[in-house]
Parts: sequence; C-alpha cells; structure tokens
Amino acid sequence: MKEVILIKNGELSLKGLNRRSFEDMLTANLRRRLSPLSPFNFYRSQSTITAEPLDENVDFDAVVQRVGKVFGIAAFSRAAAVKKDFSVILDFAPRYLENSLKEASTFKVEAKRSDKKFPYNSPQICAALGERILNEFPHLKVDVRQPELTVTVEVRDRYAFIHENQIKGAGGLPAGSSGKAALLISGGIDSPVAGWMMAKRGLKLTGIHFASPPYTSPRAEQKVHALLGKVAEYSGNITLFTVPFTVIQEEIQDNCPESLFTIIMRRMMMRISSVIAAQEDCGALITGESVGQVASQTLQALACTDDAASLPVFRPLIGMDKDDVVSISRQIETFDISVLPYDDCCTVFTPKHPRIKPKLESVIRAESGLETDALLEEAVKGVKVDIIK
Ligand code: ATP
Ligand code: MG
Repeated sequence: MKEVILIKNGELSLKGLNRRSFEDMLTANLRRRLSPLSPFNFYRSQSTITAEPLDENVDFDAVVQRVGKVFGIAAFSRAAAVKKDFSVILDFAPRYLENSLKEASTFKVEAKRSDKKFPYNSPQICAALGERILNEFPHLKVDVRQPELTVTVEVRDRYAFIHENQIKGAGGLPAGSSGKAALLISGGIDSPVAGWMMAKRGLKLTGIHFASPPYTSPRAEQKVHALLGKVAEYSGNITLFTVPFTVIQEEIQDNCPESLFTIIMRRMMMRISSVIAAQEDCGALITGESVGQVASQTLQALACTDDAASLPVFRPLIGMDKDDVVSISRQIETFDISVLPYDDCCTVFTPKHPRIKPKLESVIRAESGLETDALLEEAVKGVKVDIIK
C-alpha cells in the first residue's frame, strides 16, 4: 500500500478552456510546496490530480498540512492506493480506516468506478464493503443521509483509492494564475491579510516595505520578513523590496504642513510603489486600507492616495470590520507577529491633528515644496531586495 493525495480542483472546473493552464499552474505550485518533503509524481484525470510521493518514508501529516495551504484546491483526500482487486479492497479498507471507524457512530460507503472494466459495479462495492465494516465494527450504524464518516472507494485507471471524509482545501485560484501585484506591507495586522486575500484570487505577490531607520528598528524589518513568510506558505515565494524612507519623511517634515504629513507620505509611497511595481511587471498595488479605520482612510484621503498611484489600487479589506480581519490573521497565523510592538514608519511621523478630509488641490499645493522626482529616484536606487520563502 502507498498513500497519495487526491485533489479536487474546485473553482478550476469552471474555467473552461483555461482549465489546462490552470491545472499546470496548480501542479507546479504543489510540486514546489511539497518538494522539501519528497519528490512527487502528479497524474491528472477527470478533474482529479493525484499526488504520489516517491519517498516511502515521507511525513504524510506534513504533506496534508502543506496541501491545505495551496490555493486552487476545493477539497482533497489522504488516500491509500491499492491493487484493483475486490478482495484486497474489502480486506484493506477496514484496516486503513480503523481509527476513524472506531470513533464514528454512523457511516456510509460510496463507490466511484471510473474504470468500467472493473468487474464489480458501484452498488456491489458499497454493499460488500458496508457489510464487511458492519461485521468488524458492530457498534456502527449505516446512515446514508448524514453519516459521520463516509468511506469512499474510487476505482481509477491505475489503482483503487480508499479514503474517508474529504479535507477542505484553501479554495481560491492557483497563485500566479491571475497575474502579479505588489503588496504594500507594513508590520500591522491588515496588510498581510490583504496580501493573503489577493493571493487567494490567483495573484502572485511582490512585497514593498518602507523603512525609516534609525526611527524604525531592524526588528521592524524582521517582522515584515516573518509576516511575508507566513503569507508565502500560501502564495509561494515573495520578492520583497525594502525602500529607504527616512529622507523622504524628513523632507516632508521640513517642507509641508504637519496636518498633511500622513497623506503626503502615503502619496510618496504610492508613487514609489508604482515605479517598482511596473518594473516588476505587476498590474496593481495592494494595501490593507479599510474605509474609516484611521484619518488616512476617509474617502477624501483615499482619493488623494489613489491620485498618486499610476496602477489600480486593490484594497480587499475596504468594507471589512477589524474583527473579521483579525480572525483571518489568526487563521493564517500572522496575528501574533503583527502585534509585536515595533514602530512602523507611519507611527513615528504621525501628526497630532491630521487633516481628516484633505482636498486634493491643497495637498498638491502643500507638496510643491518637495523635490518629488529626485526623492523618488533616490529612494528607488536605495532599494534592498530579499526573497521570502
Ligand atoms: P496595517 O495594519 O496593514 O499596518 P493600518 O491599519 O495600520 O494597516 P496604515 O498604517 O494607515 O493602516 O496603512 C495603510 C496601508 O498602507 C497598510 O495596510 C499598508 O498596505 C500600507 N503601509 C503602511 N505603512 C507601510 C510601510 N511602512 N510599508 C509599506 N506599506 C505600508
Ligand atoms: Mg500600519
């Protein structure tokens, strides 16, 4: 017996003609995510991808955990692959699923026979295996409507597969299948969640972080690396651009009215990010902004921010409550990192009384004291690049 993963590829099945290239991408992403555990062979047929480890001693719990974080998978099963022999199936299934059968109180057997040459049809497989299980586990009752445990036998071209209830996958679309976007990542709670949400929609991510040493510490940057490391478990590798922001912030402080510091700083972030993103072939920027959360996230402030970006700005959290964002951040394990107390460049330079409804004309006027182009060029030149795995 060997164990494999059977993957049902969710929303992919809706994608018609693109399906093949989506499946190629999903398979490549799976191969990359699983390769530290073992080399894998992948087989595809009838909207199922079978992932078969070549290393017999692979840690299968770790495999399951990793597959559960790959976008583009609606559900998957950890299955035993056995010889397509009726008595082997009947003998083996109760042993393979022994623990679950002991714990459950109701069950049913489901059979799928895609190999029509197999001499027993689905009802015959269900009846014989059901009877065998009832004999060996007399406490069980059959419940065909809402069983606690569904024992499934799938007779396919190379093997018969035996598995129990499917495991819910991460959903979404394979990372990279919708293109690429640049995530503006701070050390906060919101931006890693925003990145995760867009990666789920099939975007490959590039990270951009603005650092203001010595006002911000190297630990704040390490925090960003750690956060992206968590997101990368879902999205795949992320190239991170760390932009030196100190000079720009000091220039803003020296040349612009204090009430507009934040909005002008955010506009500089958008300009610089647009340049880096375009160089990296990204089609959009992603931020963790949400309407009304802070002074820089009023409609007027968001409009001023957008005006400085030369790419579309995706804000997946725009209509979400903080509680909902927090619950996603716990689920993807970024929360505990985000709440570590290192100052971000925004917090260091926060004005006491920020303008809540800035007018674009007055912001543009207030910016006129800045050498915007020169500052931008300098910042882009000083960028540090890391690959986050
Ligand atoms: P977060 O929790 O993501 O830090 P926030 O609620 O603190 O967000 P702001 O500080 O106003 O909100 O930032 C809004 C968005 O701007 C962030 O979600 C992020 O996308 C971007 N951003 C803020 N600071 C930085 C930074 N230092 N580097 C890169 N992007 C940043
Ligand atoms: Mg922040």
